[in-house]
Amino acid sequence: MNAPLNIAMPAEASAAPKTYRLLINGKQVDARDGRTIARKSPGHGFTVSHYAQAGEAEVEAAVQAAHKAFETGPWPRMKASERAAILFRAADLIETRLEDIARLDALESGKPIAQARGEIGGAVDIWRYAASLARTLHGESYANLGDAMLGVVVREPIGVVSIITPWNFPFLIVSQKLPFALAAGCTAVVKPSEMTSASTFVLGDILLEAGLPAGVVNILAGLGADVGAPMVNHPLVEMVSFTGSTRVGKMTMASAAQSLKKVSMELGGKNGQIVFPDADLEAAADAAVFGGFFNAGECCNAGSRLIVHKAIADDFLSAVKALTAKVKVGDPLDEQTKVGAMISSDHLAKVTDYVTAAASEGSNVYSGGKQLASNAGQYLDPTIMRGVTEDMAIAREEVFGPVLSVLTFESIEKALHIANNTPYGLSAGVWSANIDTCMSVARGVRSGTVWVNTFMEGYPELPFGGYKQSGLGRELGKRAVEDYTEEKTIQFHRGQRTGWWVG
Ligand code: NAD
Repeated sequence: MNAPLNIAMPAEASAAPKTYRLLINGKQVDARDGRTIARKSPGHGFTVSHYAQAGEAEVEAAVQAAHKAFETGPWPRMKASERAAILFRAADLIETRLEDIARLDALESGKPIAQARGEIGGAVDIWRYAASLARTLHGESYANLGDAMLGVVVREPIGVVSIITPWNFPFLIVSQKLPFALAAGCTAVVKPSEMTSASTFVLGDILLEAGLPAGVVNILAGLGADVGAPMVNHPLVEMVSFTGSTRVGKMTMASAAQSLKKVSMELGGKNGQIVFPDADLEAAADAAVFGGFFNAGECCNAGSRLIVHKAIADDFLSAVKALTAKVKVGDPLDEQTKVGAMISSDHLAKVTDYVTAAASEGSNVYSGGKQLASNAGQYLDPTIMRGVTEDMAIAREEVFGPVLSVLTFESIEKALHIANNTPYGLSAGVWSANIDTCMSVARGVRSGTVWVNTFMEGYPELPFGGYKQSGLGRELGKRAVEDYTEEKTIQFHRGQRTGWWVG
């Protein structure tokens, strides 16, 4: 039995929790009924933050503010160069406050501080990319329609966008949406997860400081049913950009369909890494551990299925197990930590239930499998399950915890069959030195991203999104700003009317 994890209490534990107020029409306000949500650090157990808890009245006020800012405010009307300047300023301010934001995300979500810094640095890069794209937005012209006609297709901002985000990458995910919506000239109402709202409120302060006009971005903390649902249903909202579970994504899409809103959906994943015998097995083993346990497996892109060729399975898995034993699990604020706390005790129980069910169905716990004893917070030992078969829930459903399910194959066809045998299609990885093998897998896997001899890298230039039930639409990439626009066709006729109808 290992000694319990010793979690040190940070300075924040003995200070009063910070209160974050809603951002509506450029002002910080309390909820009308005075309700608040308290957020405890899942890694330490003390209350880090209180957020004003919005309800329908605040959704109404926020949407009205965003609508007014869109209909009559300067933001959609200003030059793209002016919008870009404000977005660049926001990026600089995020960079200046990187440490504070990273610490908030680490405290509220339980993720390791060093990783959180990387995410905020990545977000800065995305804000800069979106700012530069603002000036590339353009339409088309058609001068080939005869002498009397000039056809022009212009792109206009779509309007008010509702942005709803999950808890696993609080600052990074809002940064995959909001700067692109703003670059297009849209206005927005943003709802972060009720468990990790603080860093999004800091972003609100930053945007105002950067010069964003009042009402362009409004931020509401609150529950999905009280705040998210009315943000989706509101008739003045034109588009919903949602990242979260496939279950809530489906409900959101059904609600948005009632008023035919455009939707962008980034949902769950059940991603496989396929390892062939000719791969650089040392690198593949490291990536298997990274893919399985990064962000405690609470990651849409987690490589939660390790699909290994039978000929190398025993040796490869013992290398993966040895590396797993070296992964430092514990205090999110410890610089050496690689796997922090689980987001909530309910979620931890859900993850261990998957492990128990899989073990009772005939797979075996090769490593980990248990909650770790600790003086504070909730932690799960990185877990490897061997003998998993395709029909088990653990092989098909998104577990969203540090659990690696191992399946084996002997032919490339079988590897592809396993990889595709899930309702999800977010991402996949292939490890082989043979270009034909890599290409066959890259083309054969039904997923939005395939990593070849690497795993879970991301660049703002590259579109990201899912096949099948992992989502709809793409974020990032050069077309990300276009996603927040409508196309308008304008036909200019010159000279005498042609083709008289009545005469
Ligand atoms: P979730 O679906 O429970 O919640 C996501 C957001 O939706 C939260 O802000 C929540 O309050 C809100 N919500 C809940 N009910 C709602 C309703 N009825 N109407 C409108 N909004 C509602 O997801 P989660 O547990 O916060 O996040 C984990 C999930 O997110 C995982 O499935 C993960 O794969 C997915 N995710 C996907 C991506 C991606 O890019 N594909 C990235 C990160 C996370």
